[in-house]
Amino acid sequence: MKKLSFERSESLYAKAVKLMPGGVNSPVRAFKQVDANPIFIERAEGAYMWDADGNKFIDYIGSWGPAILGHAHPEVVEAVTASLKNGFSFGAPSALEIRIAELVQKILPSMEMIRLVSSGTEACMAALRLARGFTGRDKILKFTGCYHGHADMLLVKAGSGVATLGIPGSPGVPAAVVKDTLTLAFNDIQGLKDLFAKEGSEIAAVIVEPIVGNSNFIRPKDGYLELMRELCTQSGAILIFDEVMTGFRVGLTGVQGLKNIKPDLSTLGKVIGGGMPIGAYGGRADIMAKVAPSGPVYQAGTLSGNPVAVTCGIKTLELLSTKYDFTDLAKRTRRLSLGLKERAEKHGIPLSVDYEGGMFGFMFSVKLPESFEEAAQCNITQFKQFFRGMLSYGVYLAPSAYEAGFISFAHSDKDVEDTLNIADYVFANLSQF
Ligand SMILES: *Cc1c(COP(=O)(O)O)cnc(C)c1O
Repeated sequence: MKKLSFERSESLYAKAVKLMPGGVNSPVRAFKQVDANPIFIERAEGAYMWDADGNKFIDYIGSWGPAILGHAHPEVVEAVTASLKNGFSFGAPSALEIRIAELVQKILPSMEMIRLVSSGTEACMAALRLARGFTGRDKILKFTGCYHGHADMLLVKAGSGVATLGIPGSPGVPAAVVKDTLTLAFNDIQGLKDLFAKEGSEIAAVIVEPIVGNSNFIRPKDGYLELMRELCTQSGAILIFDEVMTGFRVGLTGVQGLKNIKPDLSTLGKVIGGGMPIGAYGGRADIMAKVAPSGPVYQAGTLSGNPVAVTCGIKTLELLSTKYDFTDLAKRTRRLSLGLKERAEKHGIPLSVDYEGGMFGFMFSVKLPESFEEAAQCNITQFKQFFRGMLSYGVYLAPSAYEAGFISFAHSDKDVEDTLNIADYVFANLSQF
């Protein structure tokens, strides 16, 4: 095992911090929580990424979720390359948009109608505006540690990126904008019942990450999402599953498929674009009919439905739904997760792990977290050491103890074995890193 060095990345970082806040274009990339500097990537293919120093990494971030087929899948590259020659953006409808809408609807039947946007943030923002417009109510309910993008009204107790930086909400968000944003701890069943008993008739929408991936990995308790569904139906609140992370990831059909629960609206991002900027929201046709121009709730986008991005999304979803088997992926995720736990415990380090489909979480704690509050109690020092150790031997994990990890169909059994061997060494020498 060779320890990597990062001279070129360090010098690029020195330049980048002068040009961009923190040297990055999105905060979680900055390695701040792990007391390190980011590495600069040059190329990604399959399960791997190569940095500016020529180091090769086994990648478990996958661009924070989109790269479920692995980076630069040849068939996707071919489709996107062909599409580029037809122009980059039309600002007018194309048959491609129909194709992706049909594909999404086939996979997620709850999405009776759909609107494409360019990011998960936009999708969540628009879904909430729509829910408020449809119900004529103002209040929304979110859960501590769930992240739904960086829209003002949602930057309350918002998990990983925000928590990593220790910012409780964010300066710049007026109190008036979040006064109608109610929050509860995830998995607090009694709290949910009490809140609905008191304010249910005033709640426009409940938005939730049905498996939380922005506070490490938190599974809903049995019956919790079902209860949410029931309370929303009774009170006329719109239930929004934010499946930006979990959609086409924990299984082809997201958490709604796993749990067989039909949300009123869903938001998508990440995998739906296969690495290109696409987000989407959709759901019940009677609600979606309120979106402009068929209805009065305004929402628009110059690059929405962009043909190159949509082609990338179509090819990704076609391959996922026809050529790949999520049970295979789940087996590899399981081997990785249980392997990490076993290696850690061999060296006397408590590690709790959970996983579903191609998504996993590991936490330096004895017990799995049921809420963000519990996830925040993990051993951060050990996480930092583990992260830095793994990175220096070529394994690229999320640089935050509050992020889920992702594995792709391109990861082989050997990649997982290699990862576990490195982890064994790093756990054995943890205090050295
Ligand atoms: C990533 C993410 C978002 C935001 O998506 P962007 O494309 O980064 O704007 C929203 N919700 C969840 C659950 C996410 O994981």
